[in-house]
Amino acid sequence: MTAPRASDVPAPMRRICQRLRAAGHGAYVVGGCVRDLLLGRSAADWDVATSALPEAVQALFPRSIPTGLKHGTITVLDGDTQVEVTTFRSEGAYADGRHPDRVTFGVTLDEDLARRDFTVNALAFDPETERLVDPHGGQRDLAARLLRAVGDPVARLCEDGLRVMRAARFAATLEFELDPATEAAIPAALGSLARVSQERVRDELVKLLGARTPSRGLGILARSGALAVILPELAEGIGQVQNRYHHHDVWTHTMATVDATPAGDPPDPVRRLSALLHDVAKPRTAAPREDAPGEFTFYRHDLVGAELSETILRRLRVSNRDRERVVAVVAHHMFWYTPEWTDSAVRRFVAKVGEGLLPDLFALREGDVVGRGRGEDPDVELGELRARIGRVLEEDQALTVGDLAIKGGDVITALALRPGPVVGELLRALLELVLEDPSLNDRDRLLALLPEVHANGLTNLHATRAKNLP
Ligand code: ATP
Ligand code: MG
Repeated sequence: MTAPRASDVPAPMRRICQRLRAAGHGAYVVGGCVRDLLLGRSAADWDVATSALPEAVQALFPRSIPTGLKHGTITVLDGDTQVEVTTFRSEGAYADGRHPDRVTFGVTLDEDLARRDFTVNALAFDPETERLVDPHGGQRDLAARLLRAVGDPVARLCEDGLRVMRAARFAATLEFELDPATEAAIPAALGSLARVSQERVRDELVKLLGARTPSRGLGILARSGALAVILPELAEGIGQVQNRYHHHDVWTHTMATVDATPAGDPPDPVRRLSALLHDVAKPRTAAPREDAPGEFTFYRHDLVGAELSETILRRLRVSNRDRERVVAVVAHHMFWYTPEWTDSAVRRFVAKVGEGLLPDLFALREGDVVGRGRGEDPDVELGELRARIGRVLEEDQALTVGDLAIKGGDVITALALRPGPVVGELLRALLELVLEDPSLNDRDRLLALLPEVHANGLTNLHATRAKNLP
């Protein structure tokens, strides 16, 4: 590992440290950005630590926002760059699961580094003197690719239960081994983890899932009991045997699926969250197969799983948009394509799933096939369906009610109806016919079909539609 140079630190941070130093204060870039500098990775964000008190920082930098004044953090603006400048501090426990109960300013850099979570995150670098401050053997652990708590691991993890999540997250994203003593401390910290706010848990979980191999972190959570605290529904899958189509139990299959599901670039939380949750309802829907002792069926695990995912993602305060996409992927993940599908079955599939969801759904299926652990090639299953869907989309055929050659107003006029839900039902019924035979999507033909469709009654239509699903 080469020693960092001042020129490795981007100019805004160098300028901020320089101004603090010129005013007689100590100033360092600190924490994860120094770790990433030493690893040759690009840092997600740069943090500055200083001996200057928050008021002094504000006075020195008129363009600044007191984002965390109580905890000593001022966000300094340098051009478009926002840099968190935090006064050296020591802190107490995080009883509320969000913030330390009290922080003390006026401490040394060494004391500030001692409050940090892992040795590789307890590093500081002075861009003026190029001095690297490393009181806890962070460089040694970086070289050994080891994630180790600063000081006594039980005390450190219990102070702030989020550090359990961070341990799993960094083990996965940095691809480091978790030091055995640090891992052994996790069970003692599960009570603290349970008090941590869901938003903080979510942020770490999402970062963990962005790793190349999330199972490195998920495995730590499962083994240590942390999974049962943050995602008890998923912990039910540990040891849940499946059937001849699966080599693994539900949890092992889930981890293999998550690893094999492309995360997107930059990682899209929806992709790996869908993989994580796709089989969440299998334990609750498991029923022994009468014809095959020791094997299980999981009827409706897709629909029950969509409901469970909804609950879990609301609990984790995942955004509405991401939650809706994950829930839809879980609900639709059990499609079973065979070459016998007719063209209208392909159209009905696209209409049912929605064109926008297809990339998410196929990403999951790619991971799911690999995750079955039977050496199958996802392309064999997906290649042909992808190509056929591509043709359907190119042909520009009607796939939604909005693509029909007549609109709600036409239905109302033609049948002398009052506006109401029945208009939408009739349009959906016409869409079913058009999905079957695209040549019907013509204004006159649809208007001609309307009276019959209306007379047939909606119950009848529902039955036809259910029967026709691919
Ligand atoms: P990332 O690459 O995601 O930014 P990071 O290590 O920089 O990871 P941040 O959340 O940006 O993590 O925090 C910056 C630094 O603050 C950490 O490197 C660590 O020194 C310290 N830190 C952050 N959260 C905690 C915590 N919960 N307990 C102790 N120290 C923490
Ligand atoms: Mg950071």
